[in-house]
Amino acid sequence: MDAPKLGSSPRIAVVGGGPGGLFLATLVKRALPEAAVTLFERNQRSDAFGFGVVFSDATLRAIDEADPVLRDALRDHGRHWDRIDVLSNEQQHGFGGNGMSAIHRKVLLGLLQDNAEHVGVDLRFGTTAPPLDQLRNEYDLVVGADGTNSSVREHLDSEEPLGHEIDTATAKFIWFGTTHLFDGLTFVHRVSEHGNFAVHGYPISNELSTFIVETDEETWRRAGMDAFDVTQHPGPSDTETQAYLEKLFADDIGEGKLVANNSRWGNFRTRRTRDWWRGNVVLLGDTVHTAHFSVGSGTKMAMEDSVVLAAQIARAATEGISLSDALGAYQEIRKASVGKIQRAARPSLSWWEHFGTYQRTLDPLTFTFHFFSRSIGVEKMAQRDPGLVEKVRAAWIEQHGAAALDSTIETHSASTTTFGRRLELVSAENGTAHLVDRDGRSITAPIITAPIIEAPATESGVASARKELPETGVVVIAGSGLPRTLLAEAARLQESLVTIMSGPDLAADDAAETVLLSGRADAVAAPKETK
Ligand SMILES: Cc1cc2nc3c(=O)[nH]c(=O)nc-3n(C[C@H](O)[C@H](O)[C@H](O)COP(=O)(O)OP(=O)(O)OC[C@H]3O[C@@H](n4cnc5c(N)ncnc54)[C@H](O)[C@@H]3O)c2cc1C
Repeated sequence: MDAPKLGSSPRIAVVGGGPGGLFLATLVKRALPEAAVTLFERNQRSDAFGFGVVFSDATLRAIDEADPVLRDALRDHGRHWDRIDVLSNEQQHGFGGNGMSAIHRKVLLGLLQDNAEHVGVDLRFGTTAPPLDQLRNEYDLVVGADGTNSSVREHLDSEEPLGHEIDTATAKFIWFGTTHLFDGLTFVHRVSEHGNFAVHGYPISNELSTFIVETDEETWRRAGMDAFDVTQHPGPSDTETQAYLEKLFADDIGEGKLVANNSRWGNFRTRRTRDWWRGNVVLLGDTVHTAHFSVGSGTKMAMEDSVVLAAQIARAATEGISLSDALGAYQEIRKASVGKIQRAARPSLSWWEHFGTYQRTLDPLTFTFHFFSRSIGVEKMAQRDPGLVEKVRAAWIEQHGAAALDSTIETHSASTTTFGRRLELVSAENGTAHLVDRDGRSITAPIITAPIIEAPATESGVASARKELPETGVVVIAGSGLPRTLLAEAARLQESLVTIMSGPDLAADDAAETVLLSGRADAVAAPKETK
């Protein structure tokens, strides 16, 4: 499948004028002024769906080095903050030290369009791209940057599978804006008579905030929101959703403050693709990968793809390497870092699939800590915001009389038993674990090992392991990673079992304390040799 070499003045077609396509077209045209770069965007220049995009300060270096457009846009038109707040049961707790910025997607697209035009990209708005067969004959290279429902990807995949996988989240989300200005990233949790709803809100300009609402499917049905027909243009059921959410969140944003923009309920889809190019067609951005919006990385990943792809196209045009080598290098470089973000997004997506359970069963401070510790430990949290960690530790001591790792737990089954929350797993045989605490008290309890789940991860294995849980008493949950966490949480928060989470990693103070403070388990255990 060797692709031809690119000359020094290649003809390049870019399908899609989202952040990925516009940035790629600009960088290529700037690196290769002799190239003819044509970008097809089916929407008009001023159309932009959705509201804001949020970026973590720490992650924009590669994009800034290629072009300061995003940094300047965030500085001149965006909003910046440091603290993330969680509001639940009328309590608000914040987590500082998380530098982030946001901008209206429309503003960012406008600046990227101006940049592309300035360097001489032929921008064709209101123009659906010609069929792929025509494009690959007429152009030396075709870039599919046409987003999550990419027709370029579908066409290539129908010729020879690209190894494209979709993992559909169970939670429902809808994307609104609001004229209420949040101070920074704010997660607002409210419970209606139908169930739990949560908002991801953040300011994107001096007039508008993004307002993404999530809920679970059962709540969504109970609230009658399944009347929504996502295949139709926005209609009365969309208006009903808006009215329902405006009422539910009236205390947080004021009345009648939501702004719709083609706002439709959906389920987030995580996409992964094995092959990102074929012949003289290459894919980037949402066409080949997505990561749950709670990690705010989709736009960043698309723009980083553009940086690497533009550099490889320039190499192919100026250094004489073959197009296939250039596109292969692009795929190799970008797949590694996209994979990292997608792995980090998995626990976050999972958190949002279960947030109703956490909100109902954990007190607001523990709930806040549980949320922020879904991907980092207590030590890292203390570096970013010592105040929050001090508050959580103090609340623990007030409730339990000693620091988390030094405290004890009482169980009341046939008789009352007390044991330390930090245990050693002495043995695990025939489904029974023998444990001993630091004072030499020994405990025996059934042990269940959570299944190993490989990405793309469904949680069906956890559901069947859950059936093995005892009805009462103490249980030990072994295994690793997210499945072990989910099973321990199901045991403790849903089945009310005294839950001991076990694994070699829990020998480390950081991991052990994080599990206890977050309420993921009542106690932790590690095998003897790892201590
Ligand atoms: C609820 C939600 C919240 C999000 N929040 C964030 C966030 O905070 N931060 C973040 O970084 N990302 C966020 N994202 C993700 C982000 O929106 C995308 O990852 C990003 O837009 C991807 O850019 P792209 O250029 O690959 O594709 P897109 O932005 O989807 O652009 C694709 C373009 O191709 C055009 N197109 C499609 N087919 C054709 C065709 N046949 N011919 C011509 N044009 C065509 C489309 O009109 C579109 O303009 C969020 C996503 C969702 C769903």
